[in-house]
Parts: sequence; C-alpha cells; structure tokens
Amino acid sequence: MHVRRGIAVCPGIAIGPALVMDTEGVRIPIQTVPADQSAAEAARLRTAVIEAIRAAAERQRELTRKHGRVIGDIFEAKAGLYDDGKLIGGIEDLIRAKSYSAEYAVSRYVRDILKRLDSASHLPQAARLRGDYVDFEKDLLHLLLGGRREPLALDEPVIVLANDITPSETAELDLNLVFALATESGGATSHTAILAGAREIPAVVGVGRFLTDVSGGDRVIVDGNNGLVILDPDDATVERYEKARRLERSKSGEHRIQSRNVPGVTRDGVRVTMLGNIEFPAEARPCLDRGAEGVGLYRTEFLYIHKAHDPTEEEHYEAYKAVLTEMGPDRPVVIRTLDLGGDKFTHSTGLATQEKNPFLGLRSVRLCLRNLPLFKTQLRAILRASVHGDVRIMFPMISTVMELRQCKGILREVQEDLEEARIPFKPDVQVGTMIEVPSAAILADVFAKLVNFFSIGTNDLVQYTLAADRNNEAVADLYSAADPAVLRLIDRVVKAAAAAGVGVNVCGEMSGELMFAPLLIGLGVRQLSATPRKIPDIKRVVRAVTLPDCQKLAAECMRLDTASEITRYLRDHLRRVLPDADD
Ligand code: PEP
Ligand code: MG
Repeated sequence: MHVRRGIAVCPGIAIGPALVMDTEGVRIPIQTVPADQSAAEAARLRTAVIEAIRAAAERQRELTRKHGRVIGDIFEAKAGLYDDGKLIGGIEDLIRAKSYSAEYAVSRYVRDILKRLDSASHLPQAARLRGDYVDFEKDLLHLLLGGRREPLALDEPVIVLANDITPSETAELDLNLVFALATESGGATSHTAILAGAREIPAVVGVGRFLTDVSGGDRVIVDGNNGLVILDPDDATVERYEKARRLERSKSGEHRIQSRNVPGVTRDGVRVTMLGNIEFPAEARPCLDRGAEGVGLYRTEFLYIHKAHDPTEEEHYEAYKAVLTEMGPDRPVVIRTLDLGGDKFTHSTGLATQEKNPFLGLRSVRLCLRNLPLFKTQLRAILRASVHGDVRIMFPMISTVMELRQCKGILREVQEDLEEARIPFKPDVQVGTMIEVPSAAILADVFAKLVNFFSIGTNDLVQYTLAADRNNEAVADLYSAADPAVLRLIDRVVKAAAAAGVGVNVCGEMSGELMFAPLLIGLGVRQLSATPRKIPDIKRVVRAVTLPDCQKLAAECMRLDTASEITRYLRDHLRRVLPDADD
C-alpha cells in the first residue's frame, strides 16, 4: 500500500479501479526530410491544422451538448491554439530551417514550450497551459501520422489517474462513470479542480509523480477530504474508508433532503438567510438543491478561465441570465464585479504588469477603474440581465470612499447609456460593497451611507488585517478568522450596518465553517453565503441554537485575547449544540 499526499480540491471519498491516462504517451523520434521536401511538409502541417480546427469545433459542440456550457468552454481555449498564427508559424519555420518532418517539428516546438512552462510552474496559468499544449501536440500528431484517436470509452465506473486531465480527454470521458480524479500535476485552478468542483466528485491534484506505481484496474482510494491517494490499499484500510464513505453518503443525503425545504431559523425563531457562493452558472441548480435561498456571491472573474479572449458583453449577459433564470424572480443573485488580479486570472486580461505584491497592487476594482471599457462591459451586461430576476451588484476590494463613489458614478453612466439606447433594465437594482479591506471595515459607517448592503469577505479581510498571505502555508498559523482583531472589525461593520439600516452578509470561507455560525449570529449577522455543499450543515447549526445563547457566546469571544482561545471556545460550543458536527 502506498499513500500519496496532494492538494484536496473537492471533498469526498471514492474507492474503485484505476483508469491510468498517460497524457504524454506520444513521442516522435528525430526525423528530417530532404530540403526540397520542406515546402510539402509545411503544406502537410497546414492541412493538419485545418483539420484540427474543424475537429476542435466539432468536439466543443459535442462537449457542450453532453456536459453543458461550463465544460464546453474549457475546450475553447485549447481550440484557440490552432488559430494562433505565431505558434503555427514557429513550427513552419522549424520545418524550413532545419528540414524537420512536420511531426518532429510539432513535437520539438511543443516540447520547448513545455520546458519553459515547467520552469514557470509557479505561475497560476502554467499547469493549465501545459495541458492545452500537450493536447495540441497529440491531436496534430495523430492527424499527421494518419491515426485516429479512439474515444476513451468507459463501460464501468473508474477513478481517473492522470498527469493532468486535458480538455480533449475531458471530451472523451463519460463523467458519469468517473468516481474521482487524481493528478500528478495541477493546482487549485487546474482543469481537474474545475471539473471536479462542477461535478462534485472527490479530487486530489498536485500529488507529484505516482503513475508509474499503479496499473489500470488496480484498486485505489481517493480521499478528497484529506488530499490523499492510496494505491493498492490493504483490506483494513478499504474497510475503514468504506465505512467513512457510507457515513458520509447517508449524512449528506439526509442533510440535503432535510435542509432543502426547511428555513435557517434558530430555536427561538430568528431567521438566518442562507445563500450560496458560485463561480459558474451551472452551479446555480446544485446551489438550490442544497437549500440555498439565492446566490450571495457570484464570482464573475471565472468567466475568464480558459478563455483566449476577454468575455464579450453578450457572454457576460448570457451567464448572468442563466443564473437568474435558474434562481427565479424572487431569489437574490449578488453579482460581484470582476475581482481579477491578485492570484486570479490576471494573465487573461493582459492588463496587469508583473507586480511585486499583486495582492496589494492593481487588483479587482482598482483594475476595473483603470480599464473602463472592461468595467462598463460587465456593468451593461449585469443591468441588461436585471430584467430576468432579483440581481444585485457588488463591488469588491473597495478600500476608500472615493473608489466606491467612482464605481457608483460609472454605474450611473452605464445606466444613462442604456436609457439613451432604450435598452431595458431595472433602475432600482440594489448596490453593495464588499468589506474585505480593514480601511473599509473601519469606515463602515461612512460606506453604509452609500450602499444598500455590505458583504464581509473574510478571506481577504483576514489576510489584510493580519498581513498574512491567504495562500502561503508558511504563515497559515497567523491566518485565522477567529483572531480578535478580525472579530472586532466584523463587530464594527455589523453595528455600522444596523445603525444605517443596510443589510450585512458574510461571504468568505468563515461563513462555511460551522463553529463560526453561532458567533456570527450572536454578533448580529442574519445572512450567510457559503459554498453550496456546506449549506445543509450550517442550517443544522442555526436550527440548534438560540439567539441569547449566540449573543452570550459572542460576548465571551470578544473578551478573549487570542485566536486559539477563541477557536477552542467555539469548537467546544459547537460540540455541545451539535455533537455530530464535523468541525
Ligand atoms: C473574500 O475575500 O472573502 C471573498 C469572498 O472573495 P474572494 O475569496 O473571491 O477573494
Ligand atoms: Mg476577496
């Protein structure tokens, strides 16, 4: 038995036979042609590229039909490579300059790109681009060699193990027969993570080399809760995991059914609205299935993922309309304007230069305010979509009053443009701001005069309050939402909101951690927005407490001096009110 550790990107446990995919199976030996055949080789390359473009478009259509737009779009960026004149031109140059065969030139050119990507593996886009190029190479080689790839037909459920899962492999897999995914490479934004998230199947990425230790059909366990891949597990381990899986299934099944139709209300009748955080339109339905009463945070920057170009107004509009239609006319959908930059998809915009401190740099609304066409395109689309439901607009990373005023000014300009063009939209769309920078929390009373609602983004609020990078393991001990400094800021924001009569929601990961729910209720929060799969359990916690109990808990926490004391106190409390809770 071998236990390998990676990054847990989607929770759950799967036990089953392995399907091992070697994405780099095709290697071409060095091959040259007589110099006078170079032109013919270049022509062969061009013919193959034309065929690849046709096949890519066909596959994208098929993928969209089979798995929906989200998965289909993943294929689009890859298809874009075939259209990249520079790339094809580079391969043709190799054919002409070195008399390489078309196959060898493709392989050689792509391998060089892969080497460069490997040495830039710290960049968030490197893993994804790597997969796209490997795919591109394989497709062209198969065309040039006259071979056709057989679809990867599955006739039984499997656990897919791969170096990385490229878009074309996605196209070929019947995802209904995939129990779990584990990959050697990749990070939280890799294809595998996105796929697993959209499908809610257990997944572990970034495991490092392990494919040589496993053969197709071997029994493996993927533990997406703890980021483990267990190869050839012994019987005792299988038994332990089977028990855990049964428990998990019955718990999540029960909770989902129970929570769908019951409101989040405390034992003494205080209503707590439960909303879901989503990244893709396809998540709207699962969000409702888990008992969400609306979308509290739609992270729209994910429209940029796997895109060769910035999303058009129409693409924005279609995505928002899809979510609003799924949610119906009465459930709120809070659309957050683009939060690009920091660690999120800056590459696709080509807007930000290399920054030394991207989290403190031209990120999010700062970037939008300096790129008005980008910002206005999105605002137009949101306003146009407002006729389809209860849309609300939220600005992220606001750190000064001026920024908020500017954002509102731009929104007004866009509204006027639409009016002039007689394009319908709802004129009274609610506008809110995220509170995720300490300056905004401190000035919450001033900000409250300018908006209809606040949403506290604790993921960033914690990192900026404690000066601890949210992605850096080395400072993970400092990074805690239970820190008294963070709690005081939250308390301040909730009080300022209450005094001004504006709504306040908490949408960072803190709201999905069960132990924090009673504390937030005690502080006065009446709206939580969390990852949809967390909603059933949060509702159970809400329904197990009373307001006086939560207020007493909050008062006690506010008297404590350290994050560890507060965490201990909250855990003990959770254990008392809900003994079978997981955290
Ligand atoms: C947050 O910062 O808490 C938040 C919800 O935004 P994101 O995680 O997308 O930065
Ligand atoms: Mg944030």
